[in-house]
Amino acid sequence: MMQKIKAALGQWMTGRHGADELSLMLLITGLVLSVLGSALRFGVLNLLGLAAYVFSMYRMLSRNVEKRYAENAKFLGLRQTVTTSVRQFFNRLKNARKYKYFKCPECRTLIRLPRKVGEVTVTCGKCHHAFKQKA
Ligand SMILES: [Zn+2]
Repeated sequence: MMQKIKAALGQWMTGRHGADELSLMLLITGLVLSVLGSALRFGVLNLLGLAAYVFSMYRMLSRNVEKRYAENAKFLGLRQTVTTSVRQFFNRLKNARKYKYFKCPECRTLIRLPRKVGEVTVTCGKCHHAFKQKA
C-alpha cells in the first residue's frame, strides 16, 4: 500500500520542480509568521504566512523547472551576499582594535591593514590596483 502511494506520488511529481532551498525557506518563513501571528493575535501575519506556504507549494509543484531553478539560483546568490556581509561585519567588530578596514577604490573589495603601520602602498588582491593608504 505505502509502496503504491509512493510510486503514484513519484509519478505525479515527475516533471515538476520539487523542493529546493527557496521553497524550504518559504516554508520556514510561513511557519514562523503563522506562529507569530497566532501568538500576537495579529491576523495579517497569519495571512502572510499562508501566502508563503502557497507560494512554496506552487514552486514545488511547478512544471516550469527552468524558471524555478533561476529563482532559486538568485535566492542562493542573495543569501551568499547577506551571509558574507554579516560575517565581515562581525569580523570587523572583533578586530577593530588590531586592523583598519577600508575598501579598494577600484573594485570596492574589503581590505584590512594592521593598525600603526603608517602610510603604505597597498595592492588589491582582487583587481591588483595599487594605492597609498594610511593605517
Ligand atoms: Zn580592487
